[in-house]
Amino acid sequence: MSETDRPLAPTPLQISAAVSRALRRAELTIDLAALEHNAGRARSAAAGRKIFVAVKADGYGHGAVPVAQALRGQVDGWLVATLAEGEALRQAGLTERILVLQGVMEAQEARRAAQRFLEPVFHHASQIDALGNGIAGLRLTAWIKLDTGMHRVGFRPDEFAAAYQRLSELRGLRERPGILTHFARADEPDEAPTRQQKSCFDQVTQAIDAEKSLCNSAALLRFPDMGGDWVRPGIMIYGGNPTLNGTAADWDLRPVMTLRSRLLAVRQVAAGDEIGYGGRFVAPERMPVGVVAVGYGDGYPRHAPNGTPILVNGQRTAVLGRVSMDLVTVDLRGIHAKVGDEVVCWGDGLPIDEVAQASSTISYELMCQMSGRVFRQIVKHGG
Ligand SMILES: *Cc1c(COP(=O)(O)O)cnc(C)c1O
Repeated sequence: MSETDRPLAPTPLQISAAVSRALRRAELTIDLAALEHNAGRARSAAAGRKIFVAVKADGYGHGAVPVAQALRGQVDGWLVATLAEGEALRQAGLTERILVLQGVMEAQEARRAAQRFLEPVFHHASQIDALGNGIAGLRLTAWIKLDTGMHRVGFRPDEFAAAYQRLSELRGLRERPGILTHFARADEPDEAPTRQQKSCFDQVTQAIDAEKSLCNSAALLRFPDMGGDWVRPGIMIYGGNPTLNGTAADWDLRPVMTLRSRLLAVRQVAAGDEIGYGGRFVAPERMPVGVVAVGYGDGYPRHAPNGTPILVNGQRTAVLGRVSMDLVTVDLRGIHAKVGDEVVCWGDGLPIDEVAQASSTISYELMCQMSGRVFRQIVKHGG
């Protein structure tokens, strides 16, 4: 076979950062300086308590490994939902303590957890039943969840003592499992439901000498007297507003994630023209409209209504027409803009909470739903 007859091996598609930028698609910037700043805010609010930073769901869409690597040494451990999420952190060389919320469902999973020094949460009797004597010889560090009012997972106050006793007697566990609870309404202005959960927690666990953990971001910032040995902030670390009132900036939190794209087209539409699928926006006059290279295929919320804020060249304007998979159309009346200009969907200069609120969701969901198509870039210092 001559050189030219040889079938061509498929070449893997590789898109360099420079080429990807030239494609003018949506791009996600993760600012580690903002991340560290926010972790500092958590540290001062924690006032000596230890910190598990929530990095479940790939670090709320920011990348669990880069987030954890950046915050190593500044916090004390990581909070994940699943064993696999914990294993991925170990694989990446992270050695801090890791709390696994979903826990383990069988002895085999308990062995996996023990092998990687992951700390499962026991929240249901079936987990204790399933382990039985199948984990003798392990040195598993375990936690148990008390349901103080969320009514999702965790042992009820009246069944807690017996469950704690049974868990403590499992062979293969270190002594005195840690105890956690989770607040359902710490983000709301009314403090009463959270205070009630706290007093329930104290009543049930007061006599037990073990590590304890209560606070998510909202409780950490709003209830300095909640106590516990560990706190578990998530959203505040990423610069989302943890409370229903005010803004992230009021808490001195900075956006870590900025979703940017570019104007693909600028066009004039006539009065009466309908824009996009379903003609949801009808131009009231002859007007300029911008077409942005971002859509729900990137993670921009399809439910964003007409009027959702967006920045074009740093100028605040509004989404109009239905969001499609690859494109969003924006109002350019009174805006200086040309093809190729920068658009910020949220982050630097536009709080993600404003976009989330307009779209009837929360910042957490927008962060978590960034798609694999979005090019990612990690920077330090807002650049
Ligand atoms: C996700 C989670 C947290 C972090 O909550 P934020 O509101 O993001 O601070 C804390 N504890 C538990 C049990 C969680 O599931």
